[in-house]
Amino acid sequence: MQSFSDLSLSPEIQRAIQELGFETPSPIQAQTLPILTGEKTDFLGLAGTGTGKTAAFSIPLLERIDATSKKVQALVLCPTRELALQVSGQINLLGKYKGLRSAAVYGGSSFGDQVFALKQNPTIVVGTPGRVIDHLDRGTLALDGVRTLILDEADEMISMGFKDELEAILGRVPREEANTWLFSATMSREVRRVADTYLRAPKQVQINKKEMLSENVEQLYYVTQESNKPEILCKLIDAAEDFYGIIFCQTKALVMDLTDYLNGRGYKVDCLHGDKDQRGRERTMQAFRDRKVQMLVCTDVAARGLDIDELPHVINYELPRTPEDYIHRIGRTGRAGKPGTAISLVSASEVPYLVDIEKLIRLQVEQVIVPGFEPEYDYCYPPGDKRTHHRRPSAPPSAASAPFASARSDRATGRGAQREGSSRSGNGRMAHVAADGFDFSKPYESRDTLPVTAATGSNGGKSLAHSEQPHKPRRPVAALLGGLGRK
Ligand code: AMP
Repeated sequence: MQSFSDLSLSPEIQRAIQELGFETPSPIQAQTLPILTGEKTDFLGLAGTGTGKTAAFSIPLLERIDATSKKVQALVLCPTRELALQVSGQINLLGKYKGLRSAAVYGGSSFGDQVFALKQNPTIVVGTPGRVIDHLDRGTLALDGVRTLILDEADEMISMGFKDELEAILGRVPREEANTWLFSATMSREVRRVADTYLRAPKQVQINKKEMLSENVEQLYYVTQESNKPEILCKLIDAAEDFYGIIFCQTKALVMDLTDYLNGRGYKVDCLHGDKDQRGRERTMQAFRDRKVQMLVCTDVAARGLDIDELPHVINYELPRTPEDYIHRIGRTGRAGKPGTAISLVSASEVPYLVDIEKLIRLQVEQVIVPGFEPEYDYCYPPGDKRTHHRRPSAPPSAASAPFASARSDRATGRGAQREGSSRSGNGRMAHVAADGFDFSKPYESRDTLPVTAATGSNGGKSLAHSEQPHKPRRPVAALLGGLGRK
């Protein structure tokens, strides 16, 4: 399938697709639409966020709905309130010329408003599992008319602990008459079990991991000592023309410490972590969407469902421990054809995670070393890995080389290094020289280097050096490394 007009879609849906500006189907759409618009079948789609999966199921779903019926004919389950709102919004846009609308039901918001919305006889309900169960228990939602059940981001729903709720809902849908379409970025054992138990002879489409990563996302990683991460991060932020992005950390403690540190350095930063209540979360997200804050520091869980259409930057301050999370993280940039840059800061102890990620995405991520911030010892792959070990660059880099590229290791001559000589200025891409004059192509010489002694934290009291410009951090850098024991 080359174009949307290759399918016999109704003129109303074709018009809505056109209005949304979707010209060419994405890979998941190209493979899924012919199946789901053609026959009544259960379906298993392996595709993650940012692949266009929402339209891949919404278009055939809308073609199935009988606009004259007053019953709920489709239920879409999503892991988060944000995703539920997004999916509901996209269904409404695609369904508008057919006169079809969805109602969204999710936790953390007024029950009464949702009951009112459900009384308007929506044909499609999009919701989070917990709140859907609440409505079922109170009798404000009935599923007897449901003919299509969609589990969106099933792996996320399961990893967030919604397995029991999912199974309870699956048990209340008339499964003899209904089709179940399950979408998941990954096929974990639990997802496989749910699929095996609840899907009947599903047709399956799998977008390979490489296709799931947008080609518009430039992926780089910086080899660095753990203690240099705060400084390098600031340099990267300054080097971007107009930094607007998400910075991922592994723990809530580090999220809080890094946020304090970056605020102390004068950036407009907020954070999302598991302890923020719904209201605080919404405020933060609104401020980020309105660009009142330029960066959000997040844990993986807190960033779920966060969808910003034009997000140029994602930084992995720490690599995720599960390689699939890398795909989730960097899938937040490079959406809808927009360019993006995904940068990971990788210390020697994180190399095994990088190796797993590269295996999963079947791509060598381009390696960059900031001169003056080389790792303490030769950076090497785990025993048995046949790739060449990195050696520190011996000569000062040439200014004529590509931005950040001066100290590229021999890895950069591999598959990931197609961009030698390309310019990263403009379009939100990283520039060569930071706003404070720091030139990445020259060895780093800090003018205001202060020794900061870590009294606590996992750093074990090591003396760290970092530049104090432009503002003095409120917390010692050491706090960023060990989270002050708050992990
Ligand atoms: P999703 O993976 O469904 O969250 O979609 C990611 C983004 O891509 C959303 O902003 C969609 O509006 C957009 N999108 C989906 N399909 C297409 C398409 N065929 N062409 C351009 N943009 C699309």
